[in-house]
Amino acid sequence: MRKRAVCLNCIDGRIQLPAISWIKENYEIEFVDMITEPGMNGILADKGVSIEDICGKIKLSIERNNAAMIFVVGHHDCKGNPVTEPLHKEQIFLGVERLKKEFPGLPVIGLWINRDWQGQQIT
Ligand SMILES: [Zn+2]
Repeated sequence: MRKRAVCLNCIDGRIQLPAISWIKENYEIEFVDMITEPGMNGILADKGVSIEDICGKIKLSIERNNAAMIFVVGHHDCKGNPVTEPLHKEQIFLGVERLKKEFPGLPVIGLWINRDWQGQQIT
């Protein structure tokens, strides 16, 4: 079976293809289901924000599409989440940790898209 991943990403159109390309180049993944929110990593890192709706979409991707990995993405120049790069990376880390608890057994990888639109693994 062709391997699928689900990616938690920002809505920003500049980083869709870089995120998909990085995932496909670095892991044995052929298709990437994309779930987007403005500044997704900031939402996932904020314990005060419910992610029930997002988790429902992840479950769908796992159950219907056999997604076998989860990616959490943050990026340079994010208008939806205008924080410093170190804070972005911390939020990616916190988002990864939160989703690991929600989906034990699935690998969860954090990805930073830098100013050159290149991917950099965080966790
Ligand atoms: Zn963004």
